Amino acid sequence: MNDSDKLKHSTWSDSDKLCEECGVFGVYYTDPQKDSSKEDIRDAVPMVYYGLFSLQHRGQESAGIAALLRSEGKTSIECRKGMGLVGDVFSGDVLSRFSGSAAVGHVRYSTSGSSSVENAQPFVSHFKLGSIAVAHNGNLTNADVVRELLEDSGVGFISSSDSEVIINLIAKNYKKGLEKALTDTIKFIKGSYALVVLTDDALVGARDPNGIRPLCLGQFPGGWILSSESCAIDAVGGTFVRDIEPGEVVIIRENEVLSFTFSEKTRRAVCAFEYVYFARPDSVIDSVDVYGARIRAGKILGRESAVSADLVIGVPDSGIPAAIGYGRATGTPFGLGIVKSKYVGRTFIAPSQIMREKAVSVKHNVIESEVRGKRVVIIDDSIVRGTTSRRLVAILKAAGAKEVHIRVCSPPVRFPCYFGIDTPHRKDLISNMNNVNELCASLGADSLAFISVEGLLESIRLEDEKTGNDTRAQHNHGYCLGCFTGEYPIPVAGEEQ
Ligand code: SF4
Repeated sequence: MNDSDKLKHSTWSDSDKLCEECGVFGVYYTDPQKDSSKEDIRDAVPMVYYGLFSLQHRGQESAGIAALLRSEGKTSIECRKGMGLVGDVFSGDVLSRFSGSAAVGHVRYSTSGSSSVENAQPFVSHFKLGSIAVAHNGNLTNADVVRELLEDSGVGFISSSDSEVIINLIAKNYKKGLEKALTDTIKFIKGSYALVVLTDDALVGARDPNGIRPLCLGQFPGGWILSSESCAIDAVGGTFVRDIEPGEVVIIRENEVLSFTFSEKTRRAVCAFEYVYFARPDSVIDSVDVYGARIRAGKILGRESAVSADLVIGVPDSGIPAAIGYGRATGTPFGLGIVKSKYVGRTFIAPSQIMREKAVSVKHNVIESEVRGKRVVIIDDSIVRGTTSRRLVAILKAAGAKEVHIRVCSPPVRFPCYFGIDTPHRKDLISNMNNVNELCASLGADSLAFISVEGLLESIRLEDEKTGNDTRAQHNHGYCLGCFTGEYPIPVAGEEQ
């Protein structure tokens, strides 16, 4: 079985989008606030809870928080996790019975490992020298090899998640000291990872040498934050400090914040899909504001493939900024023609194609008075299986739209992702099986066009604030475009390099 076959397909979500695997969040209080009885009253758990709420879009299958409790000179790490949304897992009085001066949290959408509570994160390991909790976003491309080596040396596993490989490697090397254990672990693992690690005296953040998955650092009065996205730092009243650099480890302790680079300088290769769809529009990732990138993508689509029309609408939510951009670039009036139910989520998972199509009609509805008698351009962030697009064209036409033209602000998705994103089999990637004309006919649209790869890259340009020039080359700043081009930033088994 090659890696693409091992990708999990049985729990395809409510829509036919690529699905983000995870979000991570960590908080560390450095400010020694104590009450008169000398009890530690700093509590990072509520902050992590709110941070995870803001990262819920990155994973809705399970949620968890591990917290560091200090009491009378002793430390312990306790963890609560379960299946479901953050609000479900931490309902009732769970939070009031759980506190700590530092904590890490995780929301998960499974791609590697099955959908079960054993694979929910954070993972916690208690061993002779201490305790560690790890929360991981990404996918290790050599997890099987490392797991086998660890098992051969007597290490036991309780889950099928590759994230457990990381915690066992750190625990195995821990006697060398935290910094060395992290460096040795990170040099061993390959693939994509944004990690937050909690130990008895530190919060650690690490990002893979290409920075495929995002991770950033924030601050609040009294401590530090690590987060997959800047929107979650804003949500807890923190201040964004900077992105963790590709190949960087940051160690936060009560009296120090250390940073070191564990890999040779490599080209940054942030997942381009973060800007298209995964990230929230109020986040800034590696100095590029996600909302601005989506507006630009719409403008570029307008430049590359304008069509004469009376109305441009966006498929909620991520198609809307691009529709605004398209409208600005072409002079086409922008309107809200489609309404999305915000309450159709992971509970609506439908394994069969028939059920998926029903899910699409529950999820989206048309505002008939807005589209009737009009030539409509509909902007979507991506087309993966085509289920959503086909259904949207049908309901727009049924509502009286004269013409329906689809414009897509990502290039055709033709290849799998190996870096922590749920991708259907190649045969289910509709752009892998059809050219644009065939696809347009199959969706029932009057025309169809995708943004070019060059156009996508232009939309996520790294602009100099003063000159507006694109400074990516100066900053060795690039993007992973693997699912569009089949060219991946690191070698992956089963793909020709
Ligand atoms: S292949 Fe690359 S661009 Fe595509 S989803 Fe995966 S990480 Fe993102």
